[in-house]
Amino acid sequence: MSSPRLLPTTRAEMSSLGWSELDILLVSGDAYVDHPSFGSALLGRWLAAQGWRVGIAAQPRWETTEDVARMGRPRLFAGASAGALDSMLAHYTAFRKKRSDDAFTPGGKAGARPNRASIVYTGLLKRAFPGLPVVLGGVEASLRRAAHYDFWGDSLRRSILLDSKADLLVYGMGERAVAEIARRLAYSPDLLRLRGIPGSAFMGGPEDLPPGAACLRLPSYEGLLADPKKLMEATLSLEAQMRSGCWALQEHAGRAVVFAPPAEPLSTDELDRLYALPFSRLPHPSYREAIPAMEMIRSSVTAHRGCAGGCSFCALALHQGRRIASRSRQSLLAEAAELARRPDWDGSVTDLGGPSANMWGARCAAEPKACKRSSCLTPSICPHFQDDQAGLLSLLRSLKSVPGVKHLRVASGVRHDLALRCPDYAKALASEFTGGQLKLAPEHSSEAVLALMRKPSFKVFERYLSLFEKESKAAGKEQYVIPYLMSAFPGCTDADMRALASWLRARGWKPRQVQCFIPVPGTVATAMYFAGIDPAGRAIKVARTDAERLRQHGILTEGWQMPRPRRQSR
Ligand code: SF4
Repeated sequence: MSSPRLLPTTRAEMSSLGWSELDILLVSGDAYVDHPSFGSALLGRWLAAQGWRVGIAAQPRWETTEDVARMGRPRLFAGASAGALDSMLAHYTAFRKKRSDDAFTPGGKAGARPNRASIVYTGLLKRAFPGLPVVLGGVEASLRRAAHYDFWGDSLRRSILLDSKADLLVYGMGERAVAEIARRLAYSPDLLRLRGIPGSAFMGGPEDLPPGAACLRLPSYEGLLADPKKLMEATLSLEAQMRSGCWALQEHAGRAVVFAPPAEPLSTDELDRLYALPFSRLPHPSYREAIPAMEMIRSSVTAHRGCAGGCSFCALALHQGRRIASRSRQSLLAEAAELARRPDWDGSVTDLGGPSANMWGARCAAEPKACKRSSCLTPSICPHFQDDQAGLLSLLRSLKSVPGVKHLRVASGVRHDLALRCPDYAKALASEFTGGQLKLAPEHSSEAVLALMRKPSFKVFERYLSLFEKESKAAGKEQYVIPYLMSAFPGCTDADMRALASWLRARGWKPRQVQCFIPVPGTVATAMYFAGIDPAGRAIKVARTDAERLRQHGILTEGWQMPRPRRQSR
C-alpha cells in the first residue's frame, strides 16, 4: 500500500483513499499535525508504512462518542494517548492554577482535551466500540504505568492501566510495540496473545512470566499507601528495570500489573526509515488557527532520542530511556535538503538536537544492561560513555552548507559538562551556532541540591560560562547564556535559594526562566517530594506547601532592583 498524503480523520477522507474501514484508530489529546514530533502522526505513519489502514481522531469531544466513532469501528484496535504532555501538567501550573493556553491546540487555547485524558479517552472508546481492544500509550500512560504520586490530586494513584481499564499499556517510544500489537491482533483477536510484548504492561500475574525470567517486584500499591517511603523503592526499581531490560510486577489488591521488558531503541537504520516517511510537516487542513507547538518545531530537525543524563526530575528517562538512538548523517542532511526545497521556508534550521543538544552519536562502550548507575554523566562522566562532539560539529557544519540553508541554530538544551570535553565544539557553538542566546540548565548553585537533581557541579557550569563568554567575545558577538533554574526542589532550602539569588545578583543577572519544581508522576524527584527522603533513604527537607514553594520561588523571581544591569540572562 502506498503511503497516504494524510492519514484520514473523516469518512470522506477514508473514501478518497479507497478505504471502507480502518485497521487501527489513534486517538490523541493533541491536534493532528503531520510532523514526526507529534506522536499520533509518527506512529500512524509508521503503521501505515507497514500496510495498516490508520485513522486519527485528534482532540475528540469527550461528552459524546460521535467524534471517535466518525470513521466506524476499526478492525484491529484503538490506541489512546493524552498527547505530548501529561494532561494534568498541560492544564495546571506549579501552583495548581488552571492554564489558559495549550501549545498543541489550534489557536493555543486550553480546553480541547479533558483532565486525565488517557482515562477519559479509553472510556470513550470502550463505549463507542464495545469489545474492541484499547491500547493506552503516550507520555501520560508511560509516567503513570505503575502506582504513582499525583500532585494535582495530592494522592497516591493506582497504575493508570487499572484506572483506565485499557486492555494493554504501551510505555516508552511505541513504534515496536504498536507494530507487534497490530501483527498479533491481525492473526487472532485473543487478548491473551498480547501479553509480554516488549514495552508494554498488562494485568496478569507471576504465571505470565517466561520460565526463569528475571523480575523486579515493586512494592504493592497497598504497601505504598501504608508507607510513603516505599515510593522511592518502587521508583528506583522501575528505573532499574528500564536499564536492565528485565520484567517487573506490582500488585494492586491481589491483582498484578506486569511490565514486560522495555522495547529496544530503534536502530539508526530504523530511525532513518521512520523520519524518511512522507510527513507533510503541516497541520491538518481543517484547522483555521495556528498551532503554537507546530510553529516552534516547523524548521527544527530531530537528530537523536534518549538522554544519558538521568536527571532525577525528568520524565524522559522513564519514557525514552538513557540509551541514545541517533539518526545517520545522511538522513539528517536529506531532511535539511528537503526543508530547503519547501516554498514556505525562510532558510533557517531553528534547531538540530533532541532531548539535549549534544548527545547525537553518543553510546555506551560497556554493556548498558549490566549497568547499575542512575546517570551516565553524574556524579562524574562514566568512563564507558562515548560521545562524539567532533562528529556533531562536523555534522552541524555540513548541514549549514546544504544549499538553501542560510542559518543553523542550536536551540535544544546544551549539556555543558559534555561540551567542555570538546573545545572545538564549545568554541563553534559560541561563534557559529548560537543566535544571541544559549540555553543551559545549571538548575541551581547548591552542590547538595544539584547532587539530588543528578546534575553536574555548579563549578562545571561556571567553567563553561567563562569559555562561552570568551569565545563569544573573540567572535565579536554579544550573546548571552539563558540559565534554566529551579526553585523548591526537594532538599532545597530558603538559604539555598538566597545563595543562588546572590550569585545572580553578583553577575547583574535578573532571572527570567525559573521553574518551580512540579512533581511529575513517576520520577525519582517526585518520590523524594512525597516520601521526604533521598534515594539512599536519608531524610531531606521538602518545601511541600504552596506557601513554602511560593516563598522559595519568590526569592528568585521577586524584588529585583537592578541599578545597573550588566548582562541579561533570559
Ligand atoms: S556503563 Fe556508563 S556509559 Fe554505560 S550505561 Fe552505565 S553509566 Fe552509561
